[in-house]
Amino acid sequence: MALKVFDLQCAHGHVFEGWFRSDDNYQEQQAQGLLSCPVCANTEVTKQLSAPRLNISHLKQDRSGTPVEQDKRAVAAPSEQEIAQLQAQFMQQLRGAVKAADDVGEQFADEARRIRDGEAKERSIRGVASTEELRELHDEGIDVMPIPDFLDDDHLH
Ligand SMILES: [Zn+2]
Repeated sequence: MALKVFDLQCAHGHVFEGWFRSDDNYQEQQAQGLLSCPVCANTEVTKQLSAPRLNISHLKQDRSGTPVEQDKRAVAAPSEQEIAQLQAQFMQQLRGAVKAADDVGEQFADEARRIRDGEAKERSIRGVASTEELRELHDEGIDVMPIPDFLDDDHLH
């Protein structure tokens, strides 16, 4: 006869295993208060949700090529592939933000100042600026995010 093993927990947080003939058998014993914690004898015993024992970690190869099983409870660190995906996602968002920005071209520095001074509508703008202009803007407290050329399709040379 097969026995069912449940992870049980008392009201004080002690976790222990309970062996039962069936689910019903567990329910029965619990209803009758027959279950008690082996540590503190508390009878408010509940079954832990043990079903979703998610195996989210992967088998990791160590240097010798032997699979090393990681602690299944630990959340696996993102793999290189996942990091690459996140980066791709980020670049896509950035590309979208660049596209959505108002292209003011060579007027970038002037327009940035006009926005700061409330003379132009507050919005995100993009354009070109010299290193000198960028430094001036920075000194004036205007933050500018440099974007890589490949994200700025309109200004490719
Ligand atoms: Zn207990």
